[in-house]
Amino acid sequence: MVAAAPLQHIQLDTIRVTYVPDGYAFFSPTDLFPTTTLEDWQSYQRLLNASGQLVSSVGAYIIQTRNRTILVDAGYGPGQYVEGSIFLQGGELLANLKRMGLILADIDSVFFTHLHSDHVNGIGQCVNAEQDFIFSNARLLVRRAEWQRFANPAEPRADVEDALKLLEPRIELIEEGEMLAPEITVLATPGHTSGHTSLVVSSGAQRAILLGDTFHSIVQIEHPTWTNSFDHDPKLAKVARQHMLQELAKPETIAIGTHLADSVFGRVTLDQGRYQWHTL
Ligand SMILES: [Zn+2]
Repeated sequence: MVAAAPLQHIQLDTIRVTYVPDGYAFFSPTDLFPTTTLEDWQSYQRLLNASGQLVSSVGAYIIQTRNRTILVDAGYGPGQYVEGSIFLQGGELLANLKRMGLILADIDSVFFTHLHSDHVNGIGQCVNAEQDFIFSNARLLVRRAEWQRFANPAEPRADVEDALKLLEPRIELIEEGEMLAPEITVLATPGHTSGHTSLVVSSGAQRAILLGDTFHSIVQIEHPTWTNSFDHDPKLAKVARQHMLQELAKPETIAIGTHLADSVFGRVTLDQGRYQWHTL
């Protein structure tokens, strides 16, 4: 039976990328992908639970190089998000970091792929009814275009307000093409949000691409035109997926998608004009 991804890692030479679960989510597949019908999902029943809901992972990553420990995204944090047919449960991140043998002070940077609640709200915890910042030793980094979308007064911020308050005095803005470490490059993948960002982790000929929410489910590997209802700019998100598929199908490339069920790690191949996903 399909399940949210467990604590799991890949190793690229001396670099380790660990998926750190924060929780899970269930969606009506036709609500999350509004251009699809139940018929489209007939061949993807394996991705649905017994109630016919699409199962998604919710979590973050730790990238460990020789001298760096970088957290990518921070999960939703303790609590539930329930809206229409969506159910999301967060709150396991800190326990899973502990299971890895990490203490919070080990984390030198937190980088955000984008500032949706399921990626950013886990940076705070409620102490005496106040939100406290958890990762006190860490630099906080996001791409400038993602931060600047909140300069627009119309940008919805209701479910990330507390996190934005914690970020505001600490955030450092970086640009496309900059490096978080010599092995980690920032790659703009706008569409899901206008400043959505992926990371390319390289070691020799091998590389892994942390895709953030470019793909919400492996169905979008075979159907990159299936738009996720959370994509802010559906046209741009499609372009980002199509471009990314070409990259992912190149040799020695591991794809990493935050919300993919069962395992967030996989490889993409192109066979007779069709992209296919192979879980690692
Ligand atoms: Zn997300």
